[in-house]
Amino acid sequence: MADEDTSVRVAVRIRPQIARELIDNLGVCTSVTPGEPQVQLGKGNLFTYDHVFDTEEVQSAIYESCVANLVEGALEGYNATVLAYGQTGSGKTYTMGTGYELTCGAENVGVLPRAIRHIFSGIESRQEQAREAGIPIPEFRVEAQFIELYNENLYDLLEPDRSMQEPKNIRIHGDHFGGISVEGVNRTVVKIEEEAMSCLRNGALSRSTGETQMNQQSSRSHAIYTLHIQQRRLAPEESEDKENGVTGDFETLTSKFHFVDLAGSERLHRTGATGERAKEGISINCGLLALGNVISALGDKSKKVMHVPYRDSKLTRLLQDSLGGNSRTVMIACISPSTQDFMETLSTLKYANRAR
Ligand code: ADP
Ligand code: MG
Repeated sequence: MADEDTSVRVAVRIRPQIARELIDNLGVCTSVTPGEPQVQLGKGNLFTYDHVFDTEEVQSAIYESCVANLVEGALEGYNATVLAYGQTGSGKTYTMGTGYELTCGAENVGVLPRAIRHIFSGIESRQEQAREAGIPIPEFRVEAQFIELYNENLYDLLEPDRSMQEPKNIRIHGDHFGGISVEGVNRTVVKIEEEAMSCLRNGALSRSTGETQMNQQSSRSHAIYTLHIQQRRLAPEESEDKENGVTGDFETLTSKFHFVDLAGSERLHRTGATGERAKEGISINCGLLALGNVISALGDKSKKVMHVPYRDSKLTRLLQDSLGGNSRTVMIACISPSTQDFMETLSTLKYANRAR
């Protein structure tokens, strides 16, 4: 992959037209330049990204080109973040695989279940390699966390009794080394793929149940599933020394992998008139706006931007140590191909363009 040191990579994925759009015989306004990561909207408006996936691109292809290398990095101690951006109905949840209806066929599963599988197989193969080499077997500890961010309030999707939850009990805490932790949320130790998947399922289900209770829709909140990975292994230099059976120094690597299914980007423009809806519109604006500003500051090739405005929203604060620096970030901007979504699609393409 070229330009490996660019900390934020941007992909655009165009979903196929859904049944409703086909029935209504809606036109298509997107076209991808063959062999180029470039998309054209209508007659003008050409945009180039790191990747562009046209309507027929399958889930495994998205995973392999955008996410697989982040998993390999996370197993070597690098933080990673995958973000799905786009208007409601553009395919964010489908792409991410954070829906609770996981009954779809294996080929249709999104990036998160694939990443979970990859992490556990990556752990196994590292342990197997060590076993074969006759060196101490690396020990891994993986923990899952699943939270929702709504109106600048955090909710724990893995809290068994969500109705009892006081959002103010959850705090984002920064340490002296620039690390970010969230206090007051459950972290579930997951030893096998199936345990991580059940956290995903329970959280996604809790999200949709909470929705009806609080009269809220998932399109208005950000869902953030995080895997904390800790590895204790023989430091690589030392492992060369296996011949005389010397046990060298051990090292501990830690990383975080965030999977973020963002609130619908139409919220960026539609601020409600009064009261709660207005407040909601503004705060969701604030997360997506701040994210755009942070990512564009990180991507400023001229390095003129000295200040990265992480503190402008809870979303960017939460992701602070996993965006930029040594961490790897992919934003997948999801768009609809249909003419009726032209304006929203244009705004998504512009947002994604700023992020490059
Ligand atoms: P969002 O989370 O952005 O609101 P969804 O992921 O729920 O959007 O997608 C909206 C609809 O489109 C769903 O019915 C979903 O199954 C379908 N869909 C989205 N992307 C694709 C795709 N690449 N292939 C097939 N169906 C898709
Ligand atoms: Mg969704």
